[in-house]
Amino acid sequence: ATPISTMIGVGKAAEHGILIRDGQALQTASRLTTLIVDKTGTLTEGKPRVTDAEILQGDERDVLGLVAALERGSEHPLAAALLSYAEENAIEPATIRDFDSVTGRGVTAIGPEGERLRLGNAAMLDEAGIFLGQNESRARELESQARTVVYLAMDDTLVALFGISDPLRVDSAEAVRRLQADGLKVVMLTGDNAHTAAAVAREVGIDDYRAGLMPEDKHAEVQRLQQAGEVVGMTGDGINDAPALAQADVGFAIGQGTDVAIESAGITLMRGSLHGIADAIEISRATLTNIK
Ligand code: ADP
Ligand code: MG
Repeated sequence: ATPISTMIGVGKAAEHGILIRDGQALQTASRLTTLIVDKTGTLTEGKPRVTDAEILQGDERDVLGLVAALERGSEHPLAAALLSYAEENAIEPATIRDFDSVTGRGVTAIGPEGERLRLGNAAMLDEAGIFLGQNESRARELESQARTVVYLAMDDTLVALFGISDPLRVDSAEAVRRLQADGLKVVMLTGDNAHTAAAVAREVGIDDYRAGLMPEDKHAEVQRLQQAGEVVGMTGDGINDAPALAQADVGFAIGQGTDVAIESAGITLMRGSLHGIADAIEISRATLTNIK
């Protein structure tokens, strides 16, 4: 594209709240064949709320005190949901030590009585050899409603499980349809479990998704698609998305996302909607075809 037409395209995009870093990003956006989207904060609002709290053992307030203490040290959106839930119930955080956060799994610490506490997903329990037993069907039921289940274990005993719901953005399904109509293959990648991922993918109309991914897996998936000849756009809002955003041919950051995500992106959307990506791609195509 000529410098002038690029300027016009970038200016037009800016009117729609889309900040395009340079002519290269505009060029590449016009050639995208695949768009990878993160689930949390991209398809969903990223404001998860606790909808179910099942205390299986012990006093409810004591258990919630442990949860509050554990999640105070985490920056994950699920931690914010559990902390607000504890606050709404006027829970005092317990005293814990040796807090540690485990990427893609959850958080752990030593509790007031020297017990090992683990708060996180099924993979975390699994790795510790803790079994769900009869609670598995309850967990599956919550996951089939697109909720994420967080488990609390004390030593080798499961003591509570929480259902957390992060509503879809109202326009996610429509925006996915629009991107598909523009000829893009839309793929969802998430660190969340396969059951919750399947429910969300179905609700928004995405056939192709991968779940239980670590940040490096998202990055590897972008590379794999590129090697298969796809021109890959990627959007995500979290620190865990930054490596994949940087690897993608064009990274789209959602305005309210983390600074790390914005720095790794060629295009930043000021409004938190996937429609912004369809706008950006449509504007880039129009700009590049007009001047050929
Ligand atoms: P995503 O952004 O897709 O959720 P993450 O790698 O950040 O990916 O997290 C993967 C999974 O690890 C989460 O879906 C959740 O099950 C679990 N997890 C991570 N951090 C926490 C936490 N602080 N509390 C509970 N669960 C957590
Ligand atoms: Mg995320």
